[in-house]
Amino acid sequence: MINLKNIKVISFDADDTLWQNEKLFRKTECDFCKLMAHYIEPTKALKILWNMEVKNIPCYGYGIKAFVLDMLEAALKISKGKMTAAETKQIINLGKKLIKSPIVLFEGAENTLKKLSKKYKIIVTTKGDLLEQENKVYRSGLIKYLRHIEVMSEKNKTSYVRLIKELNIKPKEFLMVGNSVKSDILPVLALGANAVFIPSQFTWFYEDGDASKIPSKNFMKLEKISQLIKML
Ligand SMILES: [Mg+2]
Repeated sequence: MINLKNIKVISFDADDTLWQNEKLFRKTECDFCKLMAHYIEPTKALKILWNMEVKNIPCYGYGIKAFVLDMLEAALKISKGKMTAAETKQIINLGKKLIKSPIVLFEGAENTLKKLSKKYKIIVTTKGDLLEQENKVYRSGLIKYLRHIEVMSEKNKTSYVRLIKELNIKPKEFLMVGNSVKSDILPVLALGANAVFIPSQFTWFYEDGDASKIPSKNFMKLEKISQLIKML
């Protein structure tokens, strides 16, 4: 359980917590596999791409620009260096299309932020590319409810400790809401702050984790973002 009396700052994860994101990546992965279909069967292309994504995280971090480089490197591997200039262009265009995708807010996201912002300091804490993540927040229309946007290169304990220090609050006064056990829940609980897990229909395999084994101290699982309004 979470001691709600303590909470001063509520921090929302962005992708797949406030709006759809992973669904768009899945669609782009499908398009990539179709593009590679004359070299290799789609399930094999997908596996090579996924391996490339994880392998490259220490070099590139997260986001669409990194994903485009992953697709290009995977295509070079799949085509054994024979990919054409036209295919290279098509992969770059898949990335540009992804960057321009409209922001589709989850049901209840805006109303939840609107209501909670009257009582709490609301911030967004996301990871990945600074420009890409900031643009998504601005395009979401949610900026008017936010007092701060935090873009981290990695959502780990060190990054959250720094954030809480900058917010000038105690860990027990911080509540993180997100869809990733690995990034939004475990590092936050590890430093004595609070976390609410809201599973998303689509979550990147890299962010997946088992929430069933998490002790209930400072932790809750909800089905929908709008349930926060009644809780807080
Ligand atoms: Mg997320």
